[in-house]
Amino acid sequence: MENPKNLTAVCPECKNTIDLSRYPNLLAGMVIECNHCGMTLLVNDIKDGEVKTTIVDEGK
Ligand SMILES: [Zn+2]
Repeated sequence: MENPKNLTAVCPECKNTIDLSRYPNLLAGMVIECNHCGMTLLVNDIKDGEVKTTIVDEGK
């Protein structure tokens, strides 16, 4: 079983590691926000403790 608290996500925009402590129940399909650049990111997949995200273009 994966421990959600050990998940890591790297922002595709600024390449920083996103603080996931605000998202204790992170699941694929959720939208999160990068705490570094403020980019809105969609969680595509969570695999081996790594959160795969893509940038959500809002208002485009
Ligand atoms: Zn970022």
